Amino acid sequence: MSGRPIALAELLDAAALDEVVRSYADFHGIGLALVDAEGKELLAANRTTALCDAVRAFGPGRDRCDRTLRDVRVASACDCFTAQRYQTEPLELEGQRLGVLIFGPYWPVERAGAGPSAAVVSVVSGKGLQKAQEAVAGLRPVDDVQAAKIVKQVARVVTVLLHAAHTRHMTARLHLDAIERAYAEVSEKNQHMAHVVERLQEADRLKSNFLCTISHELRTPLTSVIGYSEMLLEGLAGHLNDEQREYVRIIMEKGDQLLQLITAILDVSRIESGALRISAEPVLLSDVIAVAVAAVAPLARRKRLEVSLQLEHDAPRVLGDRDKLRQIVINLLGNAIKFTPDGGRIDVVVEVGGMLGPAAASSPEPTPDQLGLRLRVRDTGIGIPAEKTARIFDPFFQVDSSSTREYGGTGLGLALVKSFVEAHGGRVWVESEVGRGSAFTATFPCVSEDLAAYLRGRSEPIPLRRALTRDSS
Ligand code: ADP
Repeated sequence: MSGRPIALAELLDAAALDEVVRSYADFHGIGLALVDAEGKELLAANRTTALCDAVRAFGPGRDRCDRTLRDVRVASACDCFTAQRYQTEPLELEGQRLGVLIFGPYWPVERAGAGPSAAVVSVVSGKGLQKAQEAVAGLRPVDDVQAAKIVKQVARVVTVLLHAAHTRHMTARLHLDAIERAYAEVSEKNQHMAHVVERLQEADRLKSNFLCTISHELRTPLTSVIGYSEMLLEGLAGHLNDEQREYVRIIMEKGDQLLQLITAILDVSRIESGALRISAEPVLLSDVIAVAVAAVAPLARRKRLEVSLQLEHDAPRVLGDRDKLRQIVINLLGNAIKFTPDGGRIDVVVEVGGMLGPAAASSPEPTPDQLGLRLRVRDTGIGIPAEKTARIFDPFFQVDSSSTREYGGTGLGLALVKSFVEAHGGRVWVESEVGRGSAFTATFPCVSEDLAAYLRGRSEPIPLRRALTRDSS
């Protein structure tokens, strides 16, 4: 705790002390004042008598009176030039002098019956002398011993009040010190945290740069591996027997998988380093979906999954990046296929709707500027536990990350989907139930003229249904 001495004014409950001092002063008909250690008067009552007023009406009288008032603050007792008297009592708290209590001026008992002092006579003149004489005659003589008793008594009461105030003050200081210490600790920790965050951000940036460079460097030789395998398969280097063809096909397939993985890592690191660029051209989402469905159809067929498409034939075009849109659809469809057991069903729905998300979806009617194109991929697969749905869009997160995991993958697909969708100005979310399936919805802004035309010409939705059943393509 800081060792700064306490000033009387800090402890003073001005209202309470003023009342005490005033009631004593009134009761005894004599002045009382409280002066701090610097000599500043903090409280005063009945400080002047009629005799004081008489002499202060004259310049020299005022000067001498002021001098007495100054002296009395340092002397333990003091006789005034008017022959009035003061008594003082120091106020102390735990050995520290806080100030002084001044009692007076009073007319000493030994002066009873006497007239104004010679000093008074020398400073007043004319009517002033008469006033001084009348004032002296009206003063009530006070015994010194009696005066000493009163001043001690008042000092005791004031000291008790000061003690109580002191205790409160010290408690408050202790609290304040504790708060200051806690604040200093928190500030220090914050500084440390800010430093750590800075270092982590730097490390993260370096990691993203590293991934970016390394994936780029890996892609170049890998495209050669795939390219030369392709040439071998085409027989450009001579005829291959069946076994050789099978080996080269595996090299090509695995090379392709590796290339996809490296491309995903490159995309994530580009996103993290803020280098993701998307173009914005009018794209018919149904075209993109047709290409994506064709790409995953063999997988779906292998698992005997029914894939149904429900597209509005007059749906507005999306304002976006065809390549990224294709990746979004392929990732969502690929997951639906991967996490749906054999014989299940996948629905792909494209419709005009609110852009804002599942909560907003149930709210009354989205306003036209909240409308966009919604792509929904719904499956009857294994589903996602509710507590995991918030994290599945994080890079590298997988609901089941055990080494005995049944489904391959890297945990990058949905992170890319989210970044691509958000880069388009849309949103993506999932609604899921374990054991029953999942529905991923992504929203995209559309070409505004298309949307306006769609809204104008639309009375009822005209869904165009196309189903890819188990063995059809
Ligand atoms: P990956 O599929 O490569 O593991 P993703 O980022 O695409 O990575 O998906 C992250 C995780 O989210 C998956 O590992 C899986 O646990 C869960 N998930 C994604 N799509 C589905 C789905 N349709 N059904 C069930 N779980 C899914």
